[in-house]
Amino acid sequence: MTLAETLETLLPPDAELRFGEIYLTRDKEGTFAARHRDDRESEDGLERIETREELRELAKFDAEGEYRPLKTAPTLRRGWITKTGEAADFLSRLDALYPGVFATWVAYQNGEIDPVPLRDTLERQTGMYKFSSSITDQMANEIMRSTCGKGCVRVITWPIDSRCPVSRLKPPAKILPVICTEACTFAVSEARRLAKEAYDKANAV
Ligand code: SF4
Repeated sequence: MTLAETLETLLPPDAELRFGEIYLTRDKEGTFAARHRDDRESEDGLERIETREELRELAKFDAEGEYRPLKTAPTLRRGWITKTGEAADFLSRLDALYPGVFATWVAYQNGEIDPVPLRDTLERQTGMYKFSSSITDQMANEIMRSTCGKGCVRVITWPIDSRCPVSRLKPPAKILPVICTEACTFAVSEARRLAKEAYDKANAV
């Protein structure tokens, strides 16, 4: 089954799903639509966006015009809607907003990718980021709470290290999970910052 066919199955006609900050619907005739979840009550006044290129532009900046380097930051703009009758086209529009996120979920669910423990990711770093691997578990929890918990809509599926077993995520009803299977550069940067801060403090004269 292709990804587009999987999407059609997960979102049949006359159904709805939440996908991070995005609200997905499919009407009785089979047309797919996506908009910000805070705009779910009404389509009135929403700007109609017809192409993935326009959606990619929309995802670049938040409502205040600030650049969004992390596409899954909880700062997606409101005020738009996009519709299409084609599943493949709809998937490419979702990918413009959340690149690769749907494919990651499907691969995870099919058991084709295993989450990478945070410490494995940090151990692989080189150059200035090598230092990041010296974080404590407490710092790792702080990253999960702040960088990830407050700054990203993804749900973490990776453990801190390979000794910590994690149960596989099951999708709650009416939700298409936006998951994280490996720490991103923002989390690695924060690990380096916390490790360096602790080192500097311990070695202050
Ligand atoms: S590590 Fe994953 S959950 Fe955390 S900020 Fe990066 S993408 Fe989001």
